[in-house]
Amino acid sequence: MKVIEHYERATEPLISFEIIPPKRGGSVNKVFESLDKVMKYNPPFIDVTYHAAESYYEELPDGTIKRHIKRKRPGTIGLCAAIKHKYDVDPVPHLICEGFTKEETEDALIELNFLGIDNVLAIRGDAPDDSTPRIKNGTYNKYAIDLVKQVKGMNQGEYLEDIVNAHETNFCVGVAGYPEKHFEAPNLDFDVARLKEKVDAGGDYIVTQMFFNNDAYFRFVEKCRAAGIECPIVPGLKVLTRERHLNFLPKFFHLNIPEALSNEVQANPGNAREIGVEWAAQQCTELLEGGAPGIHFYIMGDPTPALDAVDKIPLGKTAKAGT
Ligand code: FAD
Repeated sequence: MKVIEHYERATEPLISFEIIPPKRGGSVNKVFESLDKVMKYNPPFIDVTYHAAESYYEELPDGTIKRHIKRKRPGTIGLCAAIKHKYDVDPVPHLICEGFTKEETEDALIELNFLGIDNVLAIRGDAPDDSTPRIKNGTYNKYAIDLVKQVKGMNQGEYLEDIVNAHETNFCVGVAGYPEKHFEAPNLDFDVARLKEKVDAGGDYIVTQMFFNNDAYFRFVEKCRAAGIECPIVPGLKVLTRERHLNFLPKFFHLNIPEALSNEVQANPGNAREIGVEWAAQQCTELLEGGAPGIHFYIMGDPTPALDAVDKIPLGKTAKAGT
């Protein structure tokens, strides 16, 4: 089923999860161990992130330097197929512009279509840490909107070359939104205007970047609605579990951590996990009571903090119906 259909048909808030593929050389069984725990909560869909290749340099014995390009976390499509097969849950592979030609993207979409996977989250991705310049010619999608257009084009039978009677795919496309604005955008209004274009191009629903202050989400939704964005805007949450998250999360995800939360964690660093779970549970309760269509948890490798938070929310219980 398409993600947008899950939201349209939902009679209770949907609790979904996002995982990352294991590092190269890792076992898929580790992922299954996490997902086994998550499945008790009947998630409507599971997102799997995509990771651009990164470059690194190796000094050879003769003193010359060799540049390697390597994807640290391959396997998104395979993992999605495994999730569908093993759990009969809709997987949502992320597709990124960064590092992929339009041809490679088209090939990936064909693979997904053949696997019966009809959902993708269309994301731009970021340039690798080493600031390798992005290639921005016509063979690459520059912004997420370009990727959305490519996917939706294939839904109309438009491939990169003209093909008579080409098969029309049937992808539901999610896109990213930023309650505290995307770090490159000059202001939130600019960012929301770009988001509106992305939705108009075919984005069926929005998942937000993580945030710890619900006011930011409610303000963002208000701005989106005022701009004419009508699709579901799903809050993305991560549970803070360590004191070092106070620096790490703002640095990597360009977000603010409210003073009340950072003060509490700094006063009791040993209890960071309990504090984070309680904070997330309160966020969820308020978000769902405020009309959010569900909660999307970024669980990375360990789902237990998110599941502990779900256990604490009254409405979260409904997500477990049938277990
Ligand atoms: P875009 O929508 O392209 O926007 C990027 C920036 O460009 C914004 O500032 C926007 O305002 C601006 N912009 C857009 N269009 C234009 C235009 N026409 N002219 C000028 N400016 C414009 N990263 C990964 O590598 N893999 C993942 O799997 C992944 N999953 C994610 C899932 C979610 C829910 C979220 C929120 C983020 C995810 N990311 C992932 C991170 C994402 O790649 C980065 O946040 C990236 O910097 C932006 O991606 P985007 O799709 O929002 O970009």
